[in-house]
Amino acid sequence: MCIFCKIVNKEIPNKTVLEDDDFLCFYDINPSRKLHVLVIPKEHYDSFDVIPPKIMSDMTSFIHKVVSKLGIKEDGYRLITNIGKDGGQEVPHLHFHILAGEYVGPLVSK
Ligand code: 5GP
Ligand code: ZN
Repeated sequence: MCIFCKIVNKEIPNKTVLEDDDFLCFYDINPSRKLHVLVIPKEHYDSFDVIPPKIMSDMTSFIHKVVSKLGIKEDGYRLITNIGKDGGQEVPHLHFHILAGEYVGPLVSK
């Protein structure tokens, strides 16, 4: 079982921001910005690449609720999902990073 499935099953503790029947948002253990949370579907999907569009649609609504709860709508945030090896994905369970709380900086070019 993957590490995020263990978080969903409460085998690994997490600091929850928001949860419903299908999705969970929790604080990243190693924040890369002042505010760094992760949003996952409770059901395991390896990455964005294989998520059914209907679930992505529901996840979009859930992310909007997270953004409201965190109070970052006005100042903005960065939403990222890494996919596979070249995308830099380390945990093979679809997750969106929400980075906020400060100017997160430009996307750097090579
Ligand atoms: P990726 O590189 O796969 O896009 O991002 C994985 C993220 O998961 C990283 O930002 C990492 O800090 C976070 N992470 C890995 N293991 C855990 C954990 O056990 N708990 C929490 N809260 N975050 C984790
Ligand atoms: Zn999983």
